Amino acid sequence: MSTCAIVGVNWGDEGKGRMVDLIASNYDIVVRYQGGNNAGHTVINEMGKFALNLIPSGIFRSGVVNVLGNGTVIDLEHLCGEIEHLRAAGVSVTPDNLKISDRAIIVFPFHKAQDEYEEARLKDAKYGSTKRGIAPVYSDKYQKKGVMMGELLLPEYLETRIKGILEWKNLTIAGVYGKEPFKLEDILAWTHRYGDILKHFVCDTGELLRDAHRNGKSILFEAQLGALRDIDLGIYPFTSSSSPLAAFAPIGAGVPDIRLDRVIGIVKAYSTCVGEGPFVAEQFGPEADRLREEGHEYGAATGRPRRVGPFDIPASMYGLKAQGATCVALTKLDTLSYMERIPVCTKYKLSDGTVTEMFPLTPFQYGAEPVIEYLDGWQTPISHIRRFEELPKAARDYVLYLEGALNCRIEYVSVGANRDEIIYR
Ligand code: GDP
Ligand code: MG
Repeated sequence: MSTCAIVGVNWGDEGKGRMVDLIASNYDIVVRYQGGNNAGHTVINEMGKFALNLIPSGIFRSGVVNVLGNGTVIDLEHLCGEIEHLRAAGVSVTPDNLKISDRAIIVFPFHKAQDEYEEARLKDAKYGSTKRGIAPVYSDKYQKKGVMMGELLLPEYLETRIKGILEWKNLTIAGVYGKEPFKLEDILAWTHRYGDILKHFVCDTGELLRDAHRNGKSILFEAQLGALRDIDLGIYPFTSSSSPLAAFAPIGAGVPDIRLDRVIGIVKAYSTCVGEGPFVAEQFGPEADRLREEGHEYGAATGRPRRVGPFDIPASMYGLKAQGATCVALTKLDTLSYMERIPVCTKYKLSDGTVTEMFPLTPFQYGAEPVIEYLDGWQTPISHIRRFEELPKAARDYVLYLEGALNCRIEYVSVGANRDEIIYR
C-alpha cells in the first residue's frame, strides 16, 4: 500500500517516463494527475520506442492499471490515436488496464484552435505553447465551462451542455479572433465519434484508487511536466496551466485523503528547456549544439529543438523544494561523457549586480547571468556500468557534488535511455 510520486524538478523532459517505466513493475497502479497531451514521455523497452502524451508510462507492464485522473484534460481524438498507436505496436490497452476519470475535462477542437489563434496574435510575445489547447481548456474549467468525461455517458445532457458552451466559445472565436465559428453538428459528431470509444474506459477513478489503497495495493503518481512549469510556483507566465507538483498529485488523482510515502525528483545531469521564458544558464553556439546532439534534445511531443545549458543549482534547489522530493533520480549522466570539463551553474548574478543562490521571480531572471564552476569530465562511455563504484572517479565526483549541492540523496543514476541502463545506489 505504498505510494510514490515521480516528478520533474526542472523545466520538464527530465526522464520521468523512463523512470516510471522502470519502477512501475513495483506498483499496481500508475496515475497521471494533471495535464493533457502536451507532454512527451519517452519510453524505450523491449516493446519499442514510444513517446507517450497522455497515457501513463506504466502501460507496458502487464498487471498494472493505468489511470488518467480528474486533474487531467483529454483530447478525445488524440487519446484514441495514442491507444491505436500502442495497440499497433503490440501493447495491450483495454478498459481493464486503462481507466479514465469521469471528472477529467474534455479538450475540444475549439480549444486547440483558440490556442493557435492566441499564439499567433501574440507574435513575438508568445508563450511557446504546444498548441494542444491546454491553456484554453484549463481556463474554461475554472470558468466552469468544461465538459467532464463522465458526461459522455449521458448523450442528451451532454448535447445540451456542449450547445451552451459552444455558443459562448464562438463569441471569442469570431469576436476576438475574427475566425469562423465552430458548428454545433461538427463538434457533436466529433464528440460522439471518439467519445463512443472512450466512454468504456470512464469510471470514478478516485474510488478505484481509494479501494485499491485500502486493499493494500501500491500507487505510483506520474507528473506530466517539471516543477518550473507549475502554474503556481513555476516561471509564470511561461508555465503550463496545471500543477505538476507532487503535493497536487493526490488531488489530481481524486484521493486527497491518501498521503505520499515517497517523492522521487527527476533531475537531468544538465539543463534543458522547451518553449519560451527566461533560462539563465542557457548556452548558445557550438557548445550548445554539441550538447543538444549528444543528448538528442528535441521535444518528444513537438520535435522542437530544446534549449540547453549546464546543470543549474538555483533552479534545481527551487524545484526540489517545490516538489518536496525525498530522493533524486539523476538521468542522462552518460550524455556528459564527451566533455573534458563540465560546467555547473552555482549561482545567478542578477542585472543589478546581486549574486544569489535563490531562484528569482520570473522578471528578475531576465538579464541575469549564470555563475559557472567547472568539474572534471571522465571522457569515457559509462552506459554499460551498473554499479556506482565502477563509474570513473570523475563521474562519481560529479554525482556526489550534485548530491551535496542539492542536499538530497541521489538514489538512482540513469546512464542510458534503455530500461536496464540504471545504477541503484
Ligand atoms: P519526460 O518528459 O520527463 O518523460 O522526458 P522526455 O522523454 O521528454 O525526455 C527525456 C529523454 O531522455 C528521452 O529521449 C529519454 O529516452 C532519454 N533518456 C532518459 N534517461 C536517459 C539516460 O539516462 N541517458 C540517455 N542517454 N537518455 C536518457
Ligand atoms: Mg517530455
